[in-house]
Amino acid sequence: MAIALIVAAGSGERLGAGRPKAFVELAGRPMLEWSLRALCGVPSVEQVVVAVPSTAQLIETRPGAEDEAADRVDPPPGWSPAVYVHGGASRSDSVRLALAAAGPGDPVLVHDAARPLLTPAIVGQVLAALATDVEADAAIAAAPVTDTIKRVADHGGVLETLDRSSLWAVQTPQVFRRDALERALAQPADVLGEATDDAWLVERAGGRVVVASVSAENLKVTTPLDLEIAGELLSRRARGAASDPA
Ligand code: C5P
Repeated sequence: MAIALIVAAGSGERLGAGRPKAFVELAGRPMLEWSLRALCGVPSVEQVVVAVPSTAQLIETRPGAEDEAADRVDPPPGWSPAVYVHGGASRSDSVRLALAAAGPGDPVLVHDAARPLLTPAIVGQVLAALATDVEADAAIAAAPVTDTIKRVADHGGVLETLDRSSLWAVQTPQVFRRDALERALAQPADVLGEATDDAWLVERAGGRVVVASVSAENLKVTTPLDLEIAGELLSRRARGAASDPA
């Protein structure tokens, strides 16, 4: 059986919502709850561990925000509550702390609370990609890049245009064989601090990572515009579910 880790311990400063991003309201629910509900809808996921901001992290970013550390989000009825732990200084550190608090499941799925449009179908696709490639250490959700991507110098001059046909925009969830993730997270703190995703840590250690092609709709909320788009899409989904005769 799989276990899932949701990292929700970021401060969300770029969003400027005045509270940790994972607890910002989105289509009537805290952002974190959308991912939690999607993961609870996957029969092979037996436990969810969530990394939330520690009091120290909150005070560092915004004095007076102590009480927000007590934020908790309830899972859907009939599901056992998630385990909550305090996150770390970097995203990968939060993953490491969540994994340390988890039960014995394998594989381990890692998901950013900042991607509230997660669906059980996407989780299923990524789990299946790992299950079907016995050589792979990890499978990651990703979508082919549609924009043209250029590398640009500090002064604004274009250095090169990359070949778009082989570029993928990487998302979460990312699913790992547990031993591969444990080895990846055992790297020094400065390496963990550099990682923008966990798959990179596995790649760096020589591991094999494969992509599962999923919808670009599983977007990441970083800016107020992202929040608006995600809110609209989730409201539309909720309306669709309410009018579904099933
Ligand atoms: O900052 P960014 O949006 O890239 O963070 C990605 C995810 O990692 C978010 O869900 C955020 O809450 C989480 N995170 C964390 N601990 C940190 C930094 C980020 O759990 N120290």
